[in-house]
Amino acid sequence: MHAPGNRTLGLVELSDINGLLDTYGPESFKLLHEAFIDRLKSWARSNDKLRRLGNDRLCIILQNVHSRAQIELAAAKLFRIFEEPYCLLGTPVMMEVTAGFVILKDKTTDIKLALRQAGKALRQARKSSELFDVYGPQCEENYIDERDLVRKLEAAIELGELELYYQPKLHAGYRSLVGAEVLMRWHREGQQVVTPDRFIPVAERHHVIKPMTWWAIKSTVSRLAHWPEELSLAVNVTPTLLLDDEILSVVKDSLEIHGVKASRLILEVTESIMVDNQDIMLGKLACLRSLGVKIAIDDFGTGFSSLTYFRDLPADEIKIDKGFVTPMLHSKKDHAIVKAVIDLAHNFSLRVVAEGVEDEQTASRLAEMGCDVLQGYAFDRPLPLEEFEKCYIS
Ligand code: C2E
Ligand code: CA
Ligand code: CA
Repeated sequence: MHAPGNRTLGLVELSDINGLLDTYGPESFKLLHEAFIDRLKSWARSNDKLRRLGNDRLCIILQNVHSRAQIELAAAKLFRIFEEPYCLLGTPVMMEVTAGFVILKDKTTDIKLALRQAGKALRQARKSSELFDVYGPQCEENYIDERDLVRKLEAAIELGELELYYQPKLHAGYRSLVGAEVLMRWHREGQQVVTPDRFIPVAERHHVIKPMTWWAIKSTVSRLAHWPEELSLAVNVTPTLLLDDEILSVVKDSLEIHGVKASRLILEVTESIMVDNQDIMLGKLACLRSLGVKIAIDDFGTGFSSLTYFRDLPADEIKIDKGFVTPMLHSKKDHAIVKAVIDLAHNFSLRVVAEGVEDEQTASRLAEMGCDVLQGYAFDRPLPLEEFEKCYIS
């Protein structure tokens, strides 16, 4: 017999189940799912109770676990089990899992309530990019916050509270304007302008990012129609949206409606496209490129791509992450990385943009190193449209 209150309920979720289904198809996904269940069974001890909840979640009652330290040990074992990729018909596939736990207070605990609490802990873990979390008051506060934020974001599009700012991109040698990066801002009612770090991750988790991005692409293309032919504009696109076929029609229709040359539109995606669903992502990038739009790889250097990545990359531009660029004059290592990326990218005929250029010395050094385009506070911060046009578009 176990003492009352000696148990913990855990909810374990297989991440990105729709992505896995899209990538591998239902038949192969079944194998993957079986492997997910098998691994969880190997994690559970003989007297722990496991129950499946839909395709992607599994609930477990861990006996004799009733403190955070014990949960941490159990979770460490769980994540070790998922460290190894699963070999799916010869292809190694990583299964990413996230977990939420709630300590059951006594024997009479309402299990339905405990499940909801574990679910909130799980969401909290995902939100803070942790592997797991244990239910506590912080989960409630954040949950309420986030739901509220999502509702307000949905309304923000309708209310016209979103605005695009423009940060100039300059030719490294001539310092002439080549275009701008479009960065989103949110004028939330009664508050100061909200920066994207605060709302893009929430929008991504709750799929509000889709209408926001389509709006950004359409607005950007319509802006291009008013600007000189030689200027381009770059829009940030969350990698998972590449898996959405709608992106092709949104881009194509906008360009046609406004009569804008496709090559003036740059879509910036982060290197993470090479980590998840690699083949599908590359295929989608190639489709977009076949429309004539340019693809830039953003935050380059922060991911874990291998060098073979360059060989097959359907891209036109590499943006070296500001984390390497900003400190490069004071850090030999960052300087060496920047130089290596410029040389490598040029060997593959990719244009190189340095972001986060904060002073003139860094700008000149980058130009000497052969970098093509510069962007950063050394020239300007992202500006509201009117201000940008006043300064740069005569
Ligand atoms: P990012 O795509 O890497 O954008 C560059 C960020 O660096 C911008 O921050 C920009 O203001 C900032 N920055 C520019 N120059 C400098 C500099 O010299 N030094 C430093 N330290 N920072 C500089 P921002 O506008 O706050 O955007 C943050 C991130 O939010 C972006 O990073 C991008 O990942 C995301 N984001 C912004 N707008 C959108 C959007 O419309 N859609 C999506 N999916 N993501 C967006
Ligand atoms: Ca960007
Ligand atoms: Ca960037």
